[in-house]
Formats: sequence, structure tokens, C-alpha cells
Amino acid sequence: MFIVKYIKDVFGALRSLAVGMRRTGYYFTHHKEIITEQYPDNKDTLVLADRFKGEVVMPHDENNEHRCTGCTACELACPNGTIKVVTKFDITPEGKKKKAIDKLVYHLELCTMCNLCIIACPSDAIVMAQTFEHSVFDRAELTKMLNNPGSKIMEGVE
Ligand code: SF4
Ligand code: SF4
Repeated sequence: MFIVKYIKDVFGALRSLAVGMRRTGYYFTHHKEIITEQYPDNKDTLVLADRFKGEVVMPHDENNEHRCTGCTACELACPNGTIKVVTKFDITPEGKKKKAIDKLVYHLELCTMCNLCIIACPSDAIVMAQTFEHSVFDRAELTKMLNNPGSKIMEGVE
């Protein structure tokens, strides 16, 4: 009967409201358990969880050197073609040809932050950074070159 169903619905809604209000009341008295971030008001004090992943980057040292050998393992590991390794051949002081990266291109707009490329890299050349404000007006700005201009591989990394 319509009226019975109507009354049941009203009681169901009131019960549901009471459950929500009880949870709200709980947080009024348990401030330390609130995990909501008041971003961007707390920008200066924001602490991200260790596991948060924002983008793939390639660290360089103070001599503009990185650890990438151009092995392409990251490119092969990426499930959606986010990374493209463009290689070249450098000439060593002994006159031998040695493979090196020309560009390591990263399409941030395609990246799912799955971390597979980082795990695949045998020389720890790439890491996940915790940067997260990636909004841009031009999509092309999300395509990045991870190696710095003029950079080279660190001595001893093979
Ligand atoms: S994190 Fe995943 S999706 Fe992003 S570049 Fe690495 S392997 Fe590809
Ligand atoms: S970043 Fe690592 S896995 Fe990718 S090409 Fe360089 S050395 Fe190989």
C-alpha cells in the first residue's frame, strides 16, 4: 500500500540521516582523526603520504649527470606508451661508440602513476616525484623531456 511504503521511506531517510550525523558528531570530538586537507589554505604545511606519486622525473647531480643508460626497460615496462627513449651514440675518450640517451620523453598526460617504469629501471635513473599541480592550458606542456639539456651519464653507471 502506498501510505505504508511512504512511511517506511520517511523512517529509512531519518535513520540514514541519523547515521550520517552520528559520524559528523564523532569527528567534532575526535579532531586528531580528521584526515581532510584544507588545500590550498594549508599549502605551506601540506604533508603528502610517502606513497603519493605525482610524476616520473630523472634526478641529475650538481654536474648535470644522470644514471640513465638508455636501456629502454622503462619504455618496455610502461603499459600505455607514456615513455619514449630516444638513443644516440657517444664516442668515448678511447674512441669507442657508446649508447646514450638523446631524449627520454615522458607524456605526463598519459601516465597512470603505476610505478612499473621505476621498478623496471636497472640503474635507478628515474623516480617518482610528489609534484601534483599539473594543470596547464596547453596539453603539449605535459609532454616533458626528463633528461636536462647537455646532461650526460654519471661515471661508473653501465
Ligand atoms: S608510472 Fe606507469 S604509466 Fe607512468 S610512465 Fe611509468 S610505467 Fe608508464
Ligand atoms: S630510465 Fe632506466 S630503464 Fe629507462 S632507459 Fe634509462 S636506464 Fe633504462
